[in-house]
Amino acid sequence: MKTQFSRKLERTKYKSTVLVLRSGFSGELANIWNLNGPMDFEEFRTRGKEMVDFMADYLKSVEERPVYPAVQPGYLRPLIPDSAPQDPDSYEELMKDVERVIMPGAASPACTELETVMLDWLSKMLNLPEEFLAGTGSEGGGVIQGTASESTLVALLAARRKMVIHIQANNPNVEESMIMSKLVAYTSDQSHSSVERAGLIGGIKMRKLVPDEKFSLRGETLKQALEEDKALGLIPFFVCATLGTTSSCSFDNIMELGPICNSENIWMHIDAAYAGSSFICPEFRPLLNGVEFSNSFNFNPHKWLLVNFDCSAMWVKKRSELIGAFKMDPLYLKHDHQDSGLITDYRHWQIPLGRRFRSLKMWFVFRLYGVKGLQEHIRKQVDLAHEFESLVHQDERFEIIGDVVLGLVCFRIKIQFFELPRDVAWVWNVSVMRRKWTGWVYFPWNRENLTEGTNELNEKLLKRINDARKIHIVPCQLRDKFVLRFVICGRTSESKHVQYAWKIINEAARNLHVGPQ
Ligand code: PLP
Repeated sequence: MKTQFSRKLERTKYKSTVLVLRSGFSGELANIWNLNGPMDFEEFRTRGKEMVDFMADYLKSVEERPVYPAVQPGYLRPLIPDSAPQDPDSYEELMKDVERVIMPGAASPACTELETVMLDWLSKMLNLPEEFLAGTGSEGGGVIQGTASESTLVALLAARRKMVIHIQANNPNVEESMIMSKLVAYTSDQSHSSVERAGLIGGIKMRKLVPDEKFSLRGETLKQALEEDKALGLIPFFVCATLGTTSSCSFDNIMELGPICNSENIWMHIDAAYAGSSFICPEFRPLLNGVEFSNSFNFNPHKWLLVNFDCSAMWVKKRSELIGAFKMDPLYLKHDHQDSGLITDYRHWQIPLGRRFRSLKMWFVFRLYGVKGLQEHIRKQVDLAHEFESLVHQDERFEIIGDVVLGLVCFRIKIQFFELPRDVAWVWNVSVMRRKWTGWVYFPWNRENLTEGTNELNEKLLKRINDARKIHIVPCQLRDKFVLRFVICGRTSESKHVQYAWKIINEAARNLHVGPQ
């Protein structure tokens, strides 16, 4: 039943909502969005028009161009530097290089060769072990997949094939279907749903292990699961570790998991879909320590490294293990360089046959920002996340859940309260005033439950925030807690956006309570 008091609060609430809407439309939001980075809006418009001219000129002259390129395999690598520039290159230089480097081999083999070199550039930016680089004479190399989900699936299928071959080498009479029915893969219960899905598509059992209190999967937990499963006659063959989980950006302990996998002949795949971009900064690179134990590693430059969707970078230590799992050679796909060992045939590294020229996007972004510009972008966003974290810390109504390592802040409201004007509070002699704020007094709604905001309360907060449609927040469940996730990832995010978001969250939190109205 509504009391007179709660009706008054409701009126106040609606009034403040209207005010926010008005001020929102008249300026706040309009001022917020500005474009920074290597191009402003006007240059973007100009370059876009130039690009249409470039394409039209190409189409107009297409009949004068050779049908098949005259270049030899491996032509591209010597034409460009062997690592990404530290400082930005100009757009003009880049377009000159499109003519000089790409057009003579367009679209093939330029598409494949630029991809191999870009994955090498990126692996140097991440300081990956040399075994993952294609240009070092190693057995490894990188490929662009569409998504992290595809990368995990491809790794799992390659691992499955590898284990079947390994077992049949010693037991030639064992049927493949028999081996497959005994295979078991492992991941943390904090992994992205795509990992479980890879198991589903691959038709193998995926066991979800419980991480420690920091949501990190530990070696001892894996060891115990392996012992249990081996005792049951099962065959462990694959572990998917996550660096930067979706829910809380936690990190599995790959320094512990890796050596166990290596000694047990288990394929370790690392899914760093979101967090991987940050490893280009030396201060975040330690988070990747242990990658040397992995068979494959993946992250999405399209998530946080300013490359447009889709671009998911995947490296393997032994490309033959990947190719071995997927190779098909029908007559209509045969070509002259098939067995020369000089070219990379990416069709054997992935599920689809056809592929786009996605490395061009990487080349443009790496050159227009330079490594320093990309590092600056990551650092700025992590600083903004810490700015939000400190706003939450300073407000005793809220709490942070987990550690803020990169751009994600998990938080929740921990007490129920509503606000009284100060004079009303004095009249009511409210002794449990918790904080003064512009003439208002916080008054805990539920005195018995001051420190524990319920899931219901947090769900209500989230609904209010998202219903206001000024910012958008996606929640998660951490153990039994409903948690709100504030993430910085927009290219143009600034401190003013963080402050604005905090204001919106505060407005949504006003007079928030569950129970009797
Ligand atoms: N892995 C992690 C840790 C993620 O956070 C996500 C997406 O958010 C994915 C995998 C799935 O990414 P994709 O859409 O590239 O398959």
